Amino acid sequence: MSSTVTGDFRAGVREWCRSNVPSQWRSAQTGVSDTEFVAFQQEWFRTLRSGGFAVPHWPKEFGGGMTVPEQVVLYQELAAADAPRLVLAFVAIHHAASTLLAAGTEAQRRRHLPAILDGEIWCQGFSEPGAGSDLASLRTSARREGDEFVVTGQKLWASGAQHADWCLLLARTDPDAPKRKGISYFLMDMRSPGIDVRPIKQATGESHFCELFLDQVRIPVSQLIGAENTGWQVAQSTLGAERGLTMLELAERLGNAGFRWLVEECGRPRRDGGRPIDDAVVADRLAVFETEIAGLRLLCRDVVERHEAGTAGAADASVVKLFYSELLQRLTGFGAEIGGLAAQSVVGKPSSGGWESGAWVLDFVGSWEWTIPGGSSEIQRTIIGERGLGLPREPAGN
Ligand SMILES: Cc1cc2nc3c(=O)[nH]c(=O)nc-3n(C[C@H](O)[C@H](O)[C@H](O)COP(=O)(O)OP(=O)(O)OC[C@H]3O[C@@H](n4cnc5c(N)ncnc54)[C@H](O)[C@@H]3O)c2cc1C
Repeated sequence: MSSTVTGDFRAGVREWCRSNVPSQWRSAQTGVSDTEFVAFQQEWFRTLRSGGFAVPHWPKEFGGGMTVPEQVVLYQELAAADAPRLVLAFVAIHHAASTLLAAGTEAQRRRHLPAILDGEIWCQGFSEPGAGSDLASLRTSARREGDEFVVTGQKLWASGAQHADWCLLLARTDPDAPKRKGISYFLMDMRSPGIDVRPIKQATGESHFCELFLDQVRIPVSQLIGAENTGWQVAQSTLGAERGLTMLELAERLGNAGFRWLVEECGRPRRDGGRPIDDAVVADRLAVFETEIAGLRLLCRDVVERHEAGTAGAADASVVKLFYSELLQRLTGFGAEIGGLAAQSVVGKPSSGGWESGAWVLDFVGSWEWTIPGGSSEIQRTIIGERGLGLPREPAGN
């Protein structure tokens, strides 16, 4: 690890958590309306910002500047204090910020990074019907007209788009070029005329995602990020952040909240007085999870540090994302097995908490949120095979 963290730093964060993490937020955030969820998330973001903890991974000049070991300590303490997660700001502080820092102009960074710290919400408009895993087949078109692009098409599965101020948008600017070479990347103001946002109602009753219908939406050329027709390369910064950087916090949550609750669940006496943890098979599974989580945490730190040093391998973020998401699925699936019938009857869990609720069946269902987006597990395995191990490439159209 590149540097160490003083005990004072940890003690300071712990004290801050003691004074600032809202008590009873889990019960207060269960069964709330969308408006209450947004208000709570915005308030928690402001609280973290006032402590200097909202964007620890950003450069210092924009309000961040923590070393990776400091970030790890921060995430450990937030997880140990069972703090709410920044669900609403997730795309803004990770995907949008990483893309702006990697490919944005100075003007774009100065316009948007402070605004994100002031609460600007972002969504990601990549996927389309017929272009999910095969993202390069996207058909939303952007035609240049003077100083503007005119965008028409449909986006799907845009998380949180109903609340977003801005969208990271991929659209085809050259229909005649090979498919990866004709795509451009835009910053789209969600208040532009021609955008119809339709939330998708899920089986759980929530509307996590939206469809976006874009009808001749005008985007100024100044909101192109990266050069025209280089959107595919720019998108790799966004996807790299989604698969890699975000995992630093998630790995600590899995270790601190997820595993701790699983151990507690296994230690709870059943009706016959026996405890699952006294069963050797259960104890063995817990030991394996603990070992895997220790490995995941080290892997995440290593990848994020190498990313910062510019020495990360092309498939490193995919390794972390694949390992995290499948471990999360195994762990919550085991929780659902141990929780038995009681776990099946829990129907509601708090907003603002991500998957970590201890409502095991719901958490297991929620874990699929991590094996699909940002490239499914199958796609991550292909990336690891091709870019990491140098295996022959999967046949592709062009
Ligand atoms: C919780 C969640 C949040 C999301 N948020 C966003 C968002 O904010 N913005 C956004 O743009 N998108 C978002 N998505 C969409 C996500 O990126 C896509 O669902 C994902 O890329 C898969 O695409 P698809 O759904 O079209 O499935 P498909 O691509 O049709 O895949 C279906 C199945 O086929 C497999 N498959 C496909 N191609 C191959 C291949 N070449 N080799 C092996 N197996 C293959 C896949 O692994 C999968 O199991 C989100 C999805 C989820 C679940």
